[in-house]
Amino acid sequence: MQDELERKREELLALVDEAADSAALERMRVRLLGKKGEVTLLLRRIGEVPPEERPAYGRLVNALKAEVEERLQRRAEELARAEEEARLAAEVLDVSLPGRLPALGTRHPLTLVLDEIKEVFLELGFAVAEGPEVEWDYYNFEALNIPRDHPAREMHDSLYITPEILLRTHTSPVQVRTMERQAPELPVRIIAPGRVYRRDALDATHSPIFHQVEGLVVDRGISFADLKGTLVHFARRLLGAERKVRFRPSYFPFTEPSSEVDISCPICRGEGCRVCGETGWLEILGAGLVHPNVLRMARYDPEEVSGFAFGLGVERIAMLKYGIDDIRLFYENDLRFLEQFRRG
Ligand SMILES: [Zn+2]
Repeated sequence: MQDELERKREELLALVDEAADSAALERMRVRLLGKKGEVTLLLRRIGEVPPEERPAYGRLVNALKAEVEERLQRRAEELARAEEEARLAAEVLDVSLPGRLPALGTRHPLTLVLDEIKEVFLELGFAVAEGPEVEWDYYNFEALNIPRDHPAREMHDSLYITPEILLRTHTSPVQVRTMERQAPELPVRIIAPGRVYRRDALDATHSPIFHQVEGLVVDRGISFADLKGTLVHFARRLLGAERKVRFRPSYFPFTEPSSEVDISCPICRGEGCRVCGETGWLEILGAGLVHPNVLRMARYDPEEVSGFAFGLGVERIAMLKYGIDDIRLFYENDLRFLEQFRRG
């Protein structure tokens, strides 16, 4: 009897030690001490023991039960400690790891260039004016000396909403709107940045939507010298002090005389390369003295006042400034492209 209990004792204590985690240990507690548990059954069997052996048997089984309970308690503490350590190890904080920065956006290259352009002209005393992108035919063409039968409309094939309303093909309507609002007050000195639309296919150098900056100065005694001085200063501020600037005669219906403005190619420094078509020059904008008809339509007297106007493409300037060879990159929202313009 005693030997049998001794074997049982060793077997049960070994079972307790085998429990690998708290859940397994709890199952073991039920298996040993539950209502039908092995220790409980040993206690019940006291009825089968001869009366004279019962006190000794009872003592032994009770001692065994106490020992099992104690072993269960000790094992529970061991497991709790091990589990706590494992948890802490898993949650360990390495304060030497670099922090996780939130992904910050960057300003779009067109915004960066536009901001620089605005800065140059604001320093010169220009104000920023705005106008609608959905525009009347009158402001987009008629008031700019481009009547219905004028061939220049061919170059401005646009997206029409109605026969009288279209998406503006240039920022020049803002000239007219500004003069109309201000006439006969002087001086007018504005730039008008904004989005414009043409019926063009999207390729490496064309886009049906792009950005322009229009400039307009009207005052007494404004001459071509004012125009040249302003634009040479602008080109050198934005694209490099060493740039040569060239004025080439040209034609626009709303200016007279008209000129196209080139800068010496920043890639080959005027020697001639693929980018500048071997000419050494790159066209950056169109300009001229405001046509008397345009002044007249805006209720200024061309005998009294004169002015100059210019228009430039923001994409074109950005492409020159950053050496970008495909206009589509501006609109594709590819982060690999946009993140290169991160500043500070
Ligand atoms: Zn070149």
